[in-house]
Amino acid sequence: MSGCSPRGRFGAGYDVVVAGGGPAGCAAALVLARAGRRVLLVDAGGGPPKVGEALVSAGAVLLDDLGAGGGVLGSGHLPCYANLSAWGSDELRVVDFINDPRGHGWHLDRRVFDGRLRDAVRAAGAEVAEGVAVRRPVRRPDGGWVSVLRGPGGDRVVRCRWLVDATGRGAGVAVRCGARRRVCDGLVALCLVLGPAPGAVEGCSLVESDEDGWWYTAPLPGGRRLVACFTDADLPSAAVRTAEELRPRLLATRHVWRRARPHGFVPSTVLRRAPAHGAFLDRVCGDGWVAAGDAAVSFDPLSSQGVLTALYTGMGAGRAVDAWLGGEVAALGGYEDGVRRARAAYVRGHRVIHAQERRWADRAFWARRLVAARGGVAL
Ligand SMILES: Cc1cc2nc3c(=O)[nH]c(=O)nc-3n(C[C@H](O)[C@H](O)[C@H](O)COP(=O)(O)OP(=O)(O)OC[C@H]3O[C@@H](n4cnc5c(N)ncnc54)[C@H](O)[C@@H]3O)c2cc1C
Repeated sequence: MSGCSPRGRFGAGYDVVVAGGGPAGCAAALVLARAGRRVLLVDAGGGPPKVGEALVSAGAVLLDDLGAGGGVLGSGHLPCYANLSAWGSDELRVVDFINDPRGHGWHLDRRVFDGRLRDAVRAAGAEVAEGVAVRRPVRRPDGGWVSVLRGPGGDRVVRCRWLVDATGRGAGVAVRCGARRRVCDGLVALCLVLGPAPGAVEGCSLVESDEDGWWYTAPLPGGRRLVACFTDADLPSAAVRTAEELRPRLLATRHVWRRARPHGFVPSTVLRRAPAHGAFLDRVCGDGWVAAGDAAVSFDPLSSQGVLTALYTGMGAGRAVDAWLGGEVAALGGYEDGVRRARAAYVRGHRVIHAQERRWADRAFWARRLVAARGGVAL
């Protein structure tokens, strides 16, 4: 348990324990620590690696608002100069960031990104415990929480007034507190990390649809490349178990394969599966708890808004809890409205984009989304 003494630097109790040290948890912890609150940020770690994720340029604005901009994005990430897409037709369309006043986006190295955010949280005065999980939070009759922290050094019990659930898609704390998680679809990602290729790196992300879903590719540090195929977990297209089984579908792409080919295709490359479905909580806050980031609302990765939304909702949750601790109990309602509006905007955009792909309307993956685009169900 790094940085965590038996009783904690703040003695027996904290104002806030933040569960989860991804972008949402770090944003919440930064805001609260800067406001002078006694904060413990706890991160379990050990999940599947997050590779090839893109952050849009607006992310730099949020990081600046958090006072962490230059330090977190300063080096270690590749610039993303444009988004390319073959969607609705084979033709490749380019959204170039040259006209964006905020500049280019980034292909994030999430290990570096999250590590630097946690450094900023420590520098702001919070405690950070890594490799430690929040377990079994119990509401005390007099308000506040008692929770077990489980780490390599054994269990430790902490008390706090508020809990922030920033545990990602599991939303373990919020669900334990009685919130219900609604899953919108069955999207799953089948990911390959290809080895280094000689030659220049194209600083762009690329999306290409096919009959059973869509592909994403982006450069990785060291000249490597991520190739990810997205489809629904219940479809035969998701039943592949190896890179070799995925290969025919990759070969049939027009633009993704052209970028993957120079990296060579090693059949033994590990094929990693990751859940990528949209989901949301029926309520994002309750008595002494608030959820942020993927725990509160998870977006289809097609939106490329997951990290941005995690920073945004983390910041919002931190501000709302700080206001509540200062006596402004209505602040939580404002936060809940903000999350609802962000999800409504995402759902509108998601429907518009999926309505643009009509070439395979008879295939299950697209038929489901076209029904949603017509307003039938909330994907
Ligand atoms: C395949 C795929 C591709 C994606 N691509 C993009 C992209 O290109 N751009 C983009 O913006 N977003 C992308 N996303 C979404 C992005 O990964 C998430 O939106 C983002 O990571 C959410 O941040 P978070 O802080 O809410 O959660 P996370 O980053 O998941 O962090 C949660 C943290 O909580 C910890 N934790 C879990 N349980 C506990 C516990 N009980 N106690 C303590 N700690 C705990 C975990 O170890 C983890 O570190 C993608 C997602 C997927 C699945």
